[in-house]
Amino acid sequence: MSVSRLFIEADLAAGVEVALDEAQAHYLRHVMRREEGASLLLFNGRDGEWKAVLSLRGRKAAVAVVEGRTRIQAEEPDVWLCFAPVKRARIDFIVEKATELGVSLLQPVLTQHTAVERVNVDRLRANAIEAAEQTERLSVPEVRRPVELGRLIDQWPAGRRLLMCDETGGGPPIAGALAALDSAARTAPWAIVIGPEGGFAQAELAALRRMTDVTPVGLGPRILRADTAALAALACWQAVLGDWREPTPRLSGDYRTARSAR
Ligand code: SAH
Repeated sequence: MSVSRLFIEADLAAGVEVALDEAQAHYLRHVMRREEGASLLLFNGRDGEWKAVLSLRGRKAAVAVVEGRTRIQAEEPDVWLCFAPVKRARIDFIVEKATELGVSLLQPVLTQHTAVERVNVDRLRANAIEAAEQTERLSVPEVRRPVELGRLIDQWPAGRRLLMCDETGGGPPIAGALAALDSAARTAPWAIVIGPEGGFAQAELAALRRMTDVTPVGLGPRILRADTAALAALACWQAVLGDWREPTPRLSGDYRTARSAR
């Protein structure tokens, strides 16, 4: 049986009792059928990961009694994904997979050829939390409200580099382009920018290329759908500039104990 891993907002420390929200309590009690004393893992994006035990309250509520820390909060890559919203199943896919791939922030962007304009940000946030719980991240990526491309460009944060995925052949192949960056660029915060299914308009491509700190790149000879392009670019970025350069960590003793109940 797997240990349930939950994202919570509260501070985490040994001995603390964390009230679980209604959905979490329902999930643990009635979906997973967890009983009094069941092992849990908790994280909040600030205090690392903690082992806790479930304590049932009344017929519906539950608290988690925090025991010891299983992982220290570590610094994570600062890489945003700016993408044009797509239909429901595909946008859910982007959020889930980008969270697994370690994205730090998801920014839906409205462009001239964006087909989908209504974005259910609350659903995307819930997807990001669920994916972070599953993938054993120590943080949940922020999900921003959609913004027009022009406004995003106007308000672009100084120093954040853009990896612009350009299917029109405007950039060199991604791996070589990333490997050739100087050390200031390699350690800077980044954002990956992906166009809509209809592609960027000419004026949008020009505006993006005029930005300081932009690196246009190609993702090979095939036209990828926006969701595929986003995840392919993120994987390349993690491999060349991000935390895929680190060896996969061996699990510590405590961590393994928490997991051995699987
Ligand atoms: N409508 C366009 C395709 C857009 S694909 C056309 O038919 O020509 C959606 C987005 O994915 C693009 O804007 C780009 O950001 C990215 N993309 C897809 N394939 C790519 C490739 N081979 N190289 C770089 N970016 C790509």
